[in-house]
Amino acid sequence: MISVDRCPLCDHETARHVLTCRDHTVSGEPFTIVECDRCGFRFTNPRPSADELGRYYQSEDYTPHQDTGQTLIDTLYQWVRHYTLWSKRRLVASLIDRPPGRLLDFGCGTGGFLARCQAHGWDAHGLEPDPTAQDVALEKHGLTVEPPDRIATLPADHFDVITLWHVLEHVAALHDTVEHLTRTLAPSGTLVVAVPNCASLDAQFYGEHWAGYDVPRHLSHFRPRDVRRLFDRHGLTVEAVRPMRLDAFYVSLLSEGYCDGWLPRAPLVALGSTLWAARHKHRSSAQLYLIRHDETP
Ligand SMILES: [Zn+2]
Repeated sequence: MISVDRCPLCDHETARHVLTCRDHTVSGEPFTIVECDRCGFRFTNPRPSADELGRYYQSEDYTPHQDTGQTLIDTLYQWVRHYTLWSKRRLVASLIDRPPGRLLDFGCGTGGFLARCQAHGWDAHGLEPDPTAQDVALEKHGLTVEPPDRIATLPADHFDVITLWHVLEHVAALHDTVEHLTRTLAPSGTLVVAVPNCASLDAQFYGEHWAGYDVPRHLSHFRPRDVRRLFDRHGLTVEAVRPMRLDAFYVSLLSEGYCDGWLPRAPLVALGSTLWAARHKHRSSAQLYLIRHDETP
């Protein structure tokens, strides 16, 4: 384990303990989440070192789901997956004047989204740390996926769209990563960042049992103001925020399981959270941020 002695967002030196969460997916171990005394940013601390982190991803939840479609759950899973891929691709196509263009999927997993974009004419590039996922991307989709440190050598001002689908919360070196992303983003390009929102109603309702904390894999726990502050430091602006409504249901179902709760309550919490988010702007369980260079007219 390593201890982070400064806030990953604002560099402040002191932080206070706010929650102890359990790793429900792999190890069952407890991890603490602290909150920066200056900016209020929440982060997992202490956290596994880069060498240790791999074993916390050794779970079926983090390996490719089989395309069997034999049970109702499998069928439902496939349907949601296809719908999600379809809506993601529609979104990125809407972000540039003349799609397709150049796309980078940072943390592309097994390459499902990349393959979909490529099939629609995008010049699509993927970076992913997990060697197993890299192999699947090659075998299943014929995609060559490279490790994330390749970001440092990608051409400047290059990509029309860069996507991070539930990836930024896993990234240890926040500012270094955003700096590289900013450099390789075209002047008129858009960064699409989806992250859980620990200021959502369901996060407050479930507390330490909220599935969006997902320790120790999630190192950062963002509120909307944290996302704005992070990108602001790199000359980028959050231009739009959109709710990811399906995530509220999924996260509430998982959270009920984590606190030995009452599963039928999950849709009610998710619905309450979604309605509350509609009234209190930008407070959805998970949110999608559209981010551009400051100088973009
Ligand atoms: Zn801070």
